[in-house]
Amino acid sequence: YSNDQTIIYHNGEFLNPKTASSSLYSQSLHYGNGVFEGIRSYKTAEGTKIFRAEAHYERLKYGAKVMGIPFDYTVADLVALTYELLEKNNLQDAYIRPLITTGANMGLYTSKESFLTMQCWEWGKLMGDRLLRVKTSSFERPNPKSCFVEAKVTGHYVNSVLSTNEAKDAGYDEALLLDMHGYVAECSGANIFMEKDGKLYTPKKGSIMAGITRETILEICEEEGIPVEEKHFKLEELKQADSSFFTGTAAEVVGLKSLDDYEFPLSWTDSLGYKLMQLYQQEVLGQRKSKLANAL
Ligand code: PMP
Repeated sequence: YSNDQTIIYHNGEFLNPKTASSSLYSQSLHYGNGVFEGIRSYKTAEGTKIFRAEAHYERLKYGAKVMGIPFDYTVADLVALTYELLEKNNLQDAYIRPLITTGANMGLYTSKESFLTMQCWEWGKLMGDRLLRVKTSSFERPNPKSCFVEAKVTGHYVNSVLSTNEAKDAGYDEALLLDMHGYVAECSGANIFMEKDGKLYTPKKGSIMAGITRETILEICEEEGIPVEEKHFKLEELKQADSSFFTGTAAEVVGLKSLDDYEFPLSWTDSLGYKLMQLYQQEVLGQRKSKLANAL
C-alpha cells in the first residue's frame, strides 16, 4: 500500500506513513470506535475524477456523528484534500481510504479527540474479475438495533472478517450473509443483486450497508429502463435466480458463478449484471450522459 514515496494525510499534515504516529491508547484500536470510507478515483477524459465523492464524505460525516466523534471538516474540505493527496501521490486510478480515529481513552464514552488520516493507493477490483464461488455464512449481519449498520464503523468489520475467513478457509471466494430474520443481506464488503426472468431484485435497506454503488446501479437501471425492485428475499429464492452479482466501490460490479452448491444458470455475458458492469464502467469514467454524470 505504501513505499518510500507514498504521501498520506495525517492530522493536518502530508507526510510519509513511516514518519506518522498515533496513540496506542486510541479507542479505535481497543474498541473499534473509528469511522472510515472506501472511495475510488478514475482517470477520465477530463482528468482525475473521484466518483461520487460527496456521497462518500456525507456517509463518513454521518458515521462520525452517530458515534459521537467530533469531526468538523466540511465535505468540500474533504474533497479538496483528496484531490491534493492524489496529486501528491501522482495517482489517477486509485482507491482512497479516509479514516477517523478517536483519541486516547480507555473508558467507553467516546473520546472528544479525533484524527483524520487519508491514504490512497492503486488497487485492482477487490474480488477480481473472475465469477465468484460464494458460500452462505454461518455468521449473520449484526442486528440493526445493536449498532448503526449504515455507518462504516471500523468495529463492525469484525463480522466481515469472520465471514470472509470462514468462506475462504472452506475453499470459496466470498461470503454471503443473511440478516437476523433469515433474509439475504449482503456480502462481507459488497451489496447483492439477483436476476430472475429479466428483472433484478436487491435486498431492502435496514440490515445492510446502504452502498453507494448499489444506489448508482439502481439509478442506472431507472435511466436504462431495466426493471428492478428492492425487496426482502430468502436464500431459497436466490437459489432459483438466473444470475446474481455483487456491487461495491472496491469490488465494482462482479458476477457470481455459484452460491453454495447452486450454479447460476444464465451465462454471465447474457445477464443484466454483465450489462450493468459495462454501464457502471462508463458511469465512473464520465462517459454516460446521465444525471449522475455531473455529480461530484
Ligand atoms: N456492504 C458492506 C458491508 C460494505 O462494507 C460495502 C463497502 N462500503 C458495501 C456493502 C458497498 O458499499 P459502497 O457501494 O458504498 O462501496
